[in-house]
Amino acid sequence: MKLAAKLSLVSVIAVIAVLAASNYFAAQIAISNIKKDHEAYALKVASEMERSILDAWQAGGVEAMRAALTTKDAPPIARWVWFEESVTSMTRPSAIGDFSKVVTRKEITSFVSTAGDGGHLLHTYYPVDLGAPRSGGLEFTRSLDDYDRETMSKLIEFLSVVGLLAIVSILVVWFAGVRLVARPLTKLTAATERIGEGDYRCRVELSGKDELTQLGQAINKMSSHLEAQKSAIEQETRDKLLVTQQLRHADRLKTVGRMAASIAHEIGTPLSVVSGRAALIAKGNLSPEKVKQNAETIQAETDRITEMIRQVLDFSRQSPSEKTEIDLNEILIEVTELLTTVAERNGMSIESSLAGTPALAFIDGGQIRQVLTNIMVNGIQAMESGGTLYVSLGRFQKETGMDSGDSCFEWEIKVRDEGTGIPAENLESIFEPFFTTKDIGAGTGLGLSLAYNMVQEQQGRIEVSSKEGRGAEFRILLPGLPREG
Ligand code: ADP
Repeated sequence: MKLAAKLSLVSVIAVIAVLAASNYFAAQIAISNIKKDHEAYALKVASEMERSILDAWQAGGVEAMRAALTTKDAPPIARWVWFEESVTSMTRPSAIGDFSKVVTRKEITSFVSTAGDGGHLLHTYYPVDLGAPRSGGLEFTRSLDDYDRETMSKLIEFLSVVGLLAIVSILVVWFAGVRLVARPLTKLTAATERIGEGDYRCRVELSGKDELTQLGQAINKMSSHLEAQKSAIEQETRDKLLVTQQLRHADRLKTVGRMAASIAHEIGTPLSVVSGRAALIAKGNLSPEKVKQNAETIQAETDRITEMIRQVLDFSRQSPSEKTEIDLNEILIEVTELLTTVAERNGMSIESSLAGTPALAFIDGGQIRQVLTNIMVNGIQAMESGGTLYVSLGRFQKETGMDSGDSCFEWEIKVRDEGTGIPAENLESIFEPFFTTKDIGAGTGLGLSLAYNMVQEQQGRIEVSSKEGRGAEFRILLPGLPREG
């Protein structure tokens, strides 16, 4: 509606401007025709009178000339004027320039002046050469009342047309604008809004062949394209989901297979030892010393089986974590102390660096202790030919990686060893349950997968970077707790 009103207003203004210009030019042409006619009349009359005027001038001067121009019982056709006087006596500043033509070039010239009653008068001057130093001539004057009347009626006509035009255009805007522009536009706007909200099935219903209908058809085309794309994307997503589910299923089968193999190895080997040693004892021909030795071996092997079962149970048990506010420095100290003896016994050392401030976190301390132990033990085991295990705790700014601000930060525990490193092809698998590269009895493949799940439970994450032969670095990131006060 607003658009239709604006368009109509602009076209009405344009029509008014054209009408005004055409009326102005018509008035100019009319006045110029009147001037031409009057000048032709003045030329004819003046050339007829010129001889008798010159005679009167020579006989009795200007008075005689004026008398010659006077007719009995009728106003004079023309009057004698000295041009310099006329210039000063008439209030026509714009005409003075043209008036000089009469004086210098002796041409017939006309001017329009305003009379005292507001009407207009047309003066036409015919120069007469008296052979005197002063210039003068005949002045023919006619009233422009008829022209003024006509101009006024044209003006009234013009204003009536303008008024009528305004009324008609308001009606046009009101009826045609609403019907032809506003309604289709409202439909188009509603449709684009619905499409914007994701309803691609919406269509604009417009009939006709105008631009708005074409726009509606383009919108319909666009929404059907979008609808087709949307269903293609939905189908693709469904397919991907199906593939992911199939992959997960395959992955689960792989894990179960690996678990079965691992358990078979882990339990099978000690069991055969147990059964062999038990058979020896059962024969009854062993010395008490040998019986004792075999019984100890049986005990050690059953302990191994028990430990394996405990780890599997730990892995499968989803015990809820018990979170409390804990200073991570303490956990680091405890685990480092526990493992230093083991490391030193194997010719290695542990270097630890604490946070320097209380490192508060709302976590399950037991689980994080277990995570750190698993990772540090792996590091120690990887340094077959000795080395140092570096453990550090510090703040890590989440977004920027810069150590600034109290909100939105994590605690970062780094464990770096100088061991064998992890081959690139194993990096993706080390967190999978039952993945191990260690010998039977030395590893279950559960340590890192347990650590991964536990850290995730604390809303944290574990990252690893390593190159074969150059050691490995594990980063445990845990959500930080801002210091109070
Ligand atoms: P496990 O130690 O019983 O094998 P984990 O889940 O703890 O089980 O580790 C899985 C595997 O990841 C290990 O067998 C080893 O190949 C690799 N690994 C873990 N930590 C390290 C490390 N620091 N250096 C080299 N390899 C490592």
